[in-house]
Amino acid sequence: MKKELFRQIPKVDVFLSDKELLEVLGDSPRPLLVKAVRDVLEDLRAGIAAGKVQEVDVDRIREEIKSELKKLLRPKLHRVINATGVVLHTNLGRAPISERVAEHLKEIITGYSNLEYDLEKGKRGLRYRNLEWILKELTGAEDVCVVNNNAGAVLLVLSALAKGKEVIVSRGELIEIGGSFRIPDVMAQSGAILKEVGTTNKTHLRDYESAINENTGLLLKVHTSNYKILGFTESVSTEELVELGRRYGIPVYEDLGSGSFIDVRKLGLSYEPTVQDVLKSGVDVVSFSGDKLLGGAQAGIILGKKEFIEKIKKHPLNRALRIDKMTLAVLEATLVYYLDEEKALKEIPTWRLLSQSPAVIRERAEKLVELLKPRLLDKALLEVVEDESEVGGGALPLQRLPTYCVAVKPLSLSVGELDCRLRSCEVPVIGRIKDERYLLDMRTVFDEELEILANNLFRVLKGSS
Ligand SMILES: *Cc1c(COP(=O)(O)O)cnc(C)c1O
Repeated sequence: MKKELFRQIPKVDVFLSDKELLEVLGDSPRPLLVKAVRDVLEDLRAGIAAGKVQEVDVDRIREEIKSELKKLLRPKLHRVINATGVVLHTNLGRAPISERVAEHLKEIITGYSNLEYDLEKGKRGLRYRNLEWILKELTGAEDVCVVNNNAGAVLLVLSALAKGKEVIVSRGELIEIGGSFRIPDVMAQSGAILKEVGTTNKTHLRDYESAINENTGLLLKVHTSNYKILGFTESVSTEELVELGRRYGIPVYEDLGSGSFIDVRKLGLSYEPTVQDVLKSGVDVVSFSGDKLLGGAQAGIILGKKEFIEKIKKHPLNRALRIDKMTLAVLEATLVYYLDEEKALKEIPTWRLLSQSPAVIRERAEKLVELLKPRLLDKALLEVVEDESEVGGGALPLQRLPTYCVAVKPLSLSVGELDCRLRSCEVPVIGRIKDERYLLDMRTVFDEELEILANNLFRVLKGSS
């Protein structure tokens, strides 16, 4: 029986000249079709060998090859619908950028640009000139350096300012972010010597002071981005640390993590220092990410006093961690909006998503239910419910924004299965499961995505019984 089935499997060549499949392939490279055919036939053979396949149906094989080929033709990195409500979702690409910034980016990368060319003088120019100007204007910083990401910024600052020297940091701030970024490891890599002081929950100014010796190179403050220590806690403020640094002639560096130019109290959240506040408190150097609350591209922005930033810029790691023109284009076009805060809140998607009123989110949720209800009456229970969204991106870990979700309770499917099927749609949907219901947080769903989202849900639930 199995032998007969194996014999019935068509030759690879049959599919390689199949008109339908060639049409799907279009002018893409032929090895992609070869791979799709081989993969599907291999699976088929394995299925027969395991006794799971009882017949060889050529039409079905062709369909499978077609869907496999479509998958191969599509970039592995593609759009998803973020229905988690987490605005800066590191796994989903953090900050989305606006159409206008994207248009500018397109113009820069589809042709040549004056990246390092001075059009007035007709010779080589400075790569970061305009970026530097905007950042100085926004923050009052004396000097600016921009690198690949904030992890790179921390490594660079420590390497340039504290190699071979001791860096004093509170035990409550020895953070790990996203698995591979750990302050003690970055410190070791930079050649600086970690000098931990205080305890997990309490660190006093005297702890820093008594750790200072002739080999102290830097006082470091790290924003505890993705957690909070609650209860009996004490930490030293940036101002106090700056005062201590001044007294002993030791520079102070703050890794701010998210780094916002806008006061988050505007969103009804509790106070977090802005980049401007941190600089005003007198730190010598501060660094933060370009794609967290800033809402731009992946980058690490370093601001501070000229004497230190100059040292940082001259370090060979700066060249190794340099940003490319795509990042530069997005950052520059995004940062300009901050020159007018109202514009930033309106034009930068991150801020737009964060500052939406619950009423607007609720309207979007109701619209989705409206699109779905007539089609899904017998397939699922739908309800608009209140819930809370997160800022994400390692910013404001305990703070929540009131939001509205569409809660879906499938009638003939488990919630887990619904979640799984939505993730495998052509435009996958990522939501969350809560109390046996599937929640679609409408804060992070764009209006243009509602139709696709509704179609996805309809298709996924339609085939559920
Ligand atoms: C996010 C974060 C980093 C890492 O920044 P990336 O831009 O992701 O490299 C470093 N330090 C702190 C405190 C952070 O919050």
